[in-house]
Amino acid sequence: MLPKPQDNRLNNQPNSLLHGLPQQHWQPDAFAAAVLAWFDQHGRTDLPWQQQPTPYRVWVSEIMLQQTQVGVVIPYFERFMTRFPDLAALAAAEQDDVLHLWSGLGYYARARNMHRAAQIVADRHGGALPTDIDVLQALPGIGRSTAGAILSLALGRHHPILDGNCKRVLARCFGVEGWPGRSSVLNELWRLAETVTPANGVSRFNQAMMDLGATLCTRSAPDCQRCPLTERCVGFHQGNPVAYPTPKPKRSTPVRQTRILLVIDPTGRVLLERRPPSGLWGGLWTPPELAPGRDAHDWCHTQLGSRSARLEMLPRRRHSFSHFELDFEPLLTWLGTPPAAVADSATRAWIDPAAPGDIGLPAPIRRLLDEIAASTLASNDHLSSIQNHQDDNGDIV
Ligand code: SF4
Repeated sequence: MLPKPQDNRLNNQPNSLLHGLPQQHWQPDAFAAAVLAWFDQHGRTDLPWQQQPTPYRVWVSEIMLQQTQVGVVIPYFERFMTRFPDLAALAAAEQDDVLHLWSGLGYYARARNMHRAAQIVADRHGGALPTDIDVLQALPGIGRSTAGAILSLALGRHHPILDGNCKRVLARCFGVEGWPGRSSVLNELWRLAETVTPANGVSRFNQAMMDLGATLCTRSAPDCQRCPLTERCVGFHQGNPVAYPTPKPKRSTPVRQTRILLVIDPTGRVLLERRPPSGLWGGLWTPPELAPGRDAHDWCHTQLGSRSARLEMLPRRRHSFSHFELDFEPLLTWLGTPPAAVADSATRAWIDPAAPGDIGLPAPIRRLLDEIAASTLASNDHLSSIQNHQDDNGDIV
């Protein structure tokens, strides 16, 4: 339990409280010394990307760790490194292969940007990530904090970082008010990050700040009793550290609606389309979307040259994105005759729902295919029961 500001334990501290706040903030050297001493005892040193921390490995880990927890990232990172052990391998890869290894991790723009950045580095920078921070952060998907992490963690260069964990620790420790999405607040946090980052031991310090935020100064339950920064942490001394950082101003989350068409051919394969390279699930494979008011039978006829059998509506699903919710209604339809047009191509493919192969699939679509594969919906039994009811034109009767 957190001590309250009037708690004797706090009054006995060397710096007594003034209006509930410590009279002095940290001296930068003392802050860094406390963080580094804690790291020597409690910091994480066994994460896969900390072994052989090349700029490439640190880069991949930093991109994967954005919005994603360490435990989720580790298997993805290991699979990614097995398939793309260096930047040249990533640059030479097909986007499908990259998205396939990213499937389920979400925020697919991260993978597309990383792939594009690798190609730029291969073309213009001799295949090695630039070590000039301005050049590095001009690459797609690499912001100031990621660039600082790559250069400090891999090469020991003196650059501060400011990922979500660091923002939280600094905002609480120094009582920085305001939502960090506001540029004035962000600038203040960067100023503090620059001030407290030590001249020596920068890679350990930056790793320690991330570890502190991830393991002690967590979003909803900071473990202040074990934190090396308790003595002068403003959030702690105010008695409510979770008030920092100020949350994003609330807006109601918009809900988008769509219908997707799961077309099953007479052999049980499902039609997928590759989505445009940018935007929602950009570059990934999903069933076709049906425009509002568009008839599914008509779609199959005009797009595939084949007649579709009856329609079956599966329960509506909801998937959350960072800025909106997507409600989608899966409509199943079976082709009465083999598809006359469009076999496999760069943008459309018939896939076996039980073994879709090495393509990028959004997690909810993957789940949907698994459901189809596990059911009788695409099985011979189901299909033949439909075909038994077709007339000579392939229409269901
Ligand atoms: S004392 Fe508590 S709130 Fe302050 S930095 Fe440490 S864990 Fe976070």
